[in-house]
Amino acid sequence: MSTSAHVPAESNAQKRVKSRSDGTVIDRLVEANREYAAGFEDPGMDARPVLHVAVVACMDARLDLHDALGLELGDCHTIRNAGGVVTDDVIRSLTISQRALGTRSVILVHHTTCGLERLTEDFRVELEHEVGQRPSWAVEAFRDVDQDVRQSMQRVRTSPFLPHTDDVRGFVFDVATGLLREIDPVT
Ligand SMILES: [Zn+2]
Repeated sequence: MSTSAHVPAESNAQKRVKSRSDGTVIDRLVEANREYAAGFEDPGMDARPVLHVAVVACMDARLDLHDALGLELGDCHTIRNAGGVVTDDVIRSLTISQRALGTRSVILVHHTTCGLERLTEDFRVELEHEVGQRPSWAVEAFRDVDQDVRQSMQRVRTSPFLPHTDDVRGFVFDVATGLLREIDPVT
């Protein structure tokens, strides 16, 4: 019996896993950027989104907006936060998106099993107890994702700052199937 066991060549996937275990997570991202930039060619794009659309979505890690919506580089503005909630800051971004950069449509994407469904406004009170200061922002926790999408659509449609509110549609992304389900704005 041979003493030299056959050692298979390290696969690219194994190498990737190994290299990803070195350094901090941000080191890994910076390294990935070097590889990205090595193959990057300036597409010479304008800052105005090609499809004149802004996507407002939850920050959830399972939601790959470009893949899920068939979007490509330069197509859209992407505005994300916890829950995909239409806060004042989202209205700020949408206002700049529409008035300075030419977008006309808004698509809202919330999703199943969102982290905000497990929180309540008690989160703010608990924070206050811990740090001695209550945050000025609302948690925007919710129990009914459909209703949360409706509320978000309503906030966009009624904003006095937005000139284009006729093409605003809201959806729930199913993280298990990858499918969008459209929410009727009125029930
Ligand atoms: Zn979420």
